[in-house]
Amino acid sequence: MEHGSGRGVSHLCRNRVAPRRVAMLSMHTSPLDQPGTGDAGGMNVYVLQVASRLAEAGVDVEIFTRATSSELPDCVMAAPGVTVRHIPAGPYEGLLKQDLPGQLCAFTAGVLRAEAARPPGYYDLLHTHYWLSGHVGWLAKDRWGVPLVHTAHTLAKVKNELLAEGDTPEPLSRVVGEEQVVEEADRLVVNTPSEAEDLIVKYAADPSKISVVPPGVDLTRFTPGDGTATRRALGLPADARVIAFVGRIQPLKAPDLLLHAAAVLARQDPHLAERTHIVYVGGLSGTGLDRPGELHDLAIRLGLARRVHFLPPRSGQALVDVYRAADLVCVPSFNETFGLVALEAQACGTPVVAAAVGGLPVAVHDGVSGILVKSHSAQDWGHVLGRLLGEDGLRGLLADGARPHAEKYSWSRTAAGLLATYRETLYDRADEMLRASRARQARRV
Ligand code: UDP
Repeated sequence: MEHGSGRGVSHLCRNRVAPRRVAMLSMHTSPLDQPGTGDAGGMNVYVLQVASRLAEAGVDVEIFTRATSSELPDCVMAAPGVTVRHIPAGPYEGLLKQDLPGQLCAFTAGVLRAEAARPPGYYDLLHTHYWLSGHVGWLAKDRWGVPLVHTAHTLAKVKNELLAEGDTPEPLSRVVGEEQVVEEADRLVVNTPSEAEDLIVKYAADPSKISVVPPGVDLTRFTPGDGTATRRALGLPADARVIAFVGRIQPLKAPDLLLHAAAVLARQDPHLAERTHIVYVGGLSGTGLDRPGELHDLAIRLGLARRVHFLPPRSGQALVDVYRAADLVCVPSFNETFGLVALEAQACGTPVVAAAVGGLPVAVHDGVSGILVKSHSAQDWGHVLGRLLGEDGLRGLLADGARPHAEKYSWSRTAAGLLATYRETLYDRADEMLRASRARQARRV
């Protein structure tokens, strides 16, 4: 598990085997979509960021995604050296994520036709994101004779073990589909060592195929700054204690836990609770779509409505402003493969309170840049939030540790890790082909 294992004897020089053009597949969601609602989240940010950084390093990246509107042009230049290609596959609008497997054939045909219109050997490598794209890549890699690098982003078996109450388990078809991609891919990229462990233990992945490459954060966009004007613009009192939740509103992310914790705080310390405001930023997603008013209704039932604010998904400076305006950013999810929101908040100098699940113990340095809570109990969260909101000194210490922790993660570093993985994968493939050809020659002699 890692790059540069140095196996095999060959005249090939590892560093000279570099990809010139990479085809990235992101079938179910476009990197051009607004993250934080529907099917768009961290993966969309990841794909666009790493593609841009790879292009800066001299690798042309073409991203294939399903066309979700007839208005979309066939190709969009997303950044210098990064093209997004919209492949028609099924109806433009209204296709649910669970119905996408039915369009895999149409999408694959579109990808194969696009490649066939190129000069032979146009792409050096395929990098697929999420299992649906992995299936398309499985076929394309055989047709194109290039290696397949796959990033799962989330794993059904892990998700099913950590379901929120009443949430729907991921179907067997996805579980099997993921197992097949794990078997077929030449390389598996994961965010953290614990995700690697999940692949090995739950999916029987070959450890030598796994590369751990942590994701990043845009350290020039997400920076510390004064949030006073944003607080005023949001109508928050000057002395408010502000908790922010940024992300898709769905049971998996446990947004309701913050309301239950605020209710606990109201019993423990009514004065502090009265000053505490919760700001939710994001739109409905997944099974959250089945219960659109649930969070709002819960806030009313718990008597918190006046101090709970719902904002639609934001991007750019408007998102940075929310992180800066918050005293704490909370990520109470039942599972989070990494948790980009946690890194973004810390890059803005805001400490994070997160559930100790998935990649969050890597994204948050417990006791230094934030606090990890080992349960999803409202009592525990109410206690932690009460302590942090009540003790300015403690919160200040964590705020001091937040930016330095985030600075360990940049997208350029992620792209460098991916490039090393690509080189290694291409080298291994070339080495394998060389050995096979020598063996054939030896048989002929
Ligand atoms: N996000 C956004 N606007 C919003 C809410 C979220 O741009 O209103 C982005 C956020 O900045 C982050 C991503 O969506 O980059 C969420 O990624 P994360 O890894 O936290 O969660 P995921 O969506 O992958 O479950």
